Amino acid sequence: MTTLDLLGDWKRTGYAGELRAADADREVTLMGWVHRRRDLGNLIFIDLRDRGGIAQIVFNKERAAKAHGRAEELRSEFVMAVRGRVARRDKPNAELASGEVEVFAEELRILNAAKTPPFMIENEVTASEETRLRYRYLDLRRPRTQSHLALRHRVILEMRKTLDAMGFYEIETPMLTRSTPEGARDYLVPSRVHPGQFYALPQSPQIFKQILMIGGLDRYFQIARCCRDEDLRADRQPEFTQLDLEMSFPTQDDIFGVIQQVLVRAFAVAGVEVKPPFRRMVYREAIRRFGSDKPDLRFGMELCDVTQEFATGREKLRFEGSVQAIVAPGAASYSRKQLDELGEQAKALGARGLYTIKVAAEGATSALDKTLGAAGLAAIVAATEAKAGDLVVAVSAAEQIPGTDAAAPIAGQLRLALGERLNLVAKDTWEFLWITEFPLFEWSASEKRWAPAQHPFTGIFEEDMDKLESAPQEVRSKGYDLVLNGVELGSGSIRIHSQELQARIFGLLGLSEEQRRARFGFFLDALTYGTPPHGGIALGMDRLVALLAREKSMREVIAFPKTTAAQDLMADSPSSVDAEQLDELGIALKNEKE
Ligand code: ASP
Repeated sequence: MTTLDLLGDWKRTGYAGELRAADADREVTLMGWVHRRRDLGNLIFIDLRDRGGIAQIVFNKERAAKAHGRAEELRSEFVMAVRGRVARRDKPNAELASGEVEVFAEELRILNAAKTPPFMIENEVTASEETRLRYRYLDLRRPRTQSHLALRHRVILEMRKTLDAMGFYEIETPMLTRSTPEGARDYLVPSRVHPGQFYALPQSPQIFKQILMIGGLDRYFQIARCCRDEDLRADRQPEFTQLDLEMSFPTQDDIFGVIQQVLVRAFAVAGVEVKPPFRRMVYREAIRRFGSDKPDLRFGMELCDVTQEFATGREKLRFEGSVQAIVAPGAASYSRKQLDELGEQAKALGARGLYTIKVAAEGATSALDKTLGAAGLAAIVAATEAKAGDLVVAVSAAEQIPGTDAAAPIAGQLRLALGERLNLVAKDTWEFLWITEFPLFEWSASEKRWAPAQHPFTGIFEEDMDKLESAPQEVRSKGYDLVLNGVELGSGSIRIHSQELQARIFGLLGLSEEQRRARFGFFLDALTYGTPPHGGIALGMDRLVALLAREKSMREVIAFPKTTAAQDLMADSPSSVDAEQLDELGIALKNEKE
């Protein structure tokens, strides 16, 4: 057992990782963890790690015998404090930011021992994510995790500064509240004081931020935690962070302008230059050209409607609706196996048929030949402007969805997959895009009815108002999304500010008068006391920082993330609770496990 020293009155002079050539000859006191240790007998080298990075400490038996003796006891992740002198290295280490210097130790204090960690604290870890999350405190020591959290801090700080300068107030809204309709299940919190009653954790601050506008606060923002009990998916967190904001008397352009300014500055912090104004596209155009309401504009491969060209094959190929084609450049060389895989993928996406045409200088070849003939193939090639060496990929959908083009989203997915596979996605480009004029409703296949595409407070195009009951699929909302590189960063809208219209929308959504009163009575009342026109938006911070950190998974930029099974492996939550606690809450479990 190592005897431990006290920190005593030692004061740290700075971070080890921040030492540079200019510090040579300085007397320093450093504190941190043993990152690595090499014992060469008379010389012991310790890589000392702290939040600033790593510096090499040299313990020389001849120069500082006592410190050297003590250093023999150091092991990985021990906590140490060292005093010594900074010296230039004969051979700088280019891999370390502090690599031009090292510190010759004069005195060492061992402040704490450590068990052997289950994995090395390195950027490249081989441990499973499960192990990393279980020992998150060790995982947090990795320089990469630290720099991600530093980036997150700086991005959020810059957003706060930018919004403050534009007159926004940061205002907190309740965590213990009632259901907010963002379309997910609520996390419920039982009330002890009111047995049998529950709070809901906020799915978003939506209603409260609108009430802040009714309350005359004019410009609100919040770095808000939101909780949604949704079905598990690879990159979803049950609690997540949004930059949430709301303004009174705004035009859509005002809101876009604020967000663009916020993002220009937040991205600058991450060393990325962003040029406003961002591009805009209406929903219909995005679907028509890219088969997606969040198109990735880093590459082309736009959809081409070839329904006309397929017309003579409609009976034989048994398709309904449209046929959408994309051109995969240079993919005419795809093997049978690759084409089969593409077919499988299309089927899994809900395609009725996937048709491919290989284009060569001497003409097109395809199994469609029998159905459409050579002239038919040539017409498709002409329509899609495919060139020799290209592969035309066309799909029809198995099932038609009312009011939408069912084949387009399938083609859109294939576009993404092929773009990736063919390396067409430009690296280090940041393609922002505003999508506007969303349909107010979308068809819910499970419920067989029109359901709101966004939350029910979304404003409605005045000129579409009289179609609300007669042709709901044609009604456009005042909602908008911000998309970056094919990822939905956030969404918002100009809101409904008339009580009458809000009540009508609730009615259309199938809420009875009673349900309306019970769930939204307070809000409907608030709307009657002079509500200003207002609107806002929320951006997902976890996703945004992950993109800036060039990480695929949001878990890499959240200090204490949950797994895809919504568990915190370190704190071991969720967990069962004591019988007394349940009793106090008046709760009995139905299927209590032994
Ligand atoms: N409350 C919305 C959301 O969380 C954003 C908004 O409409 O401002 O997605």
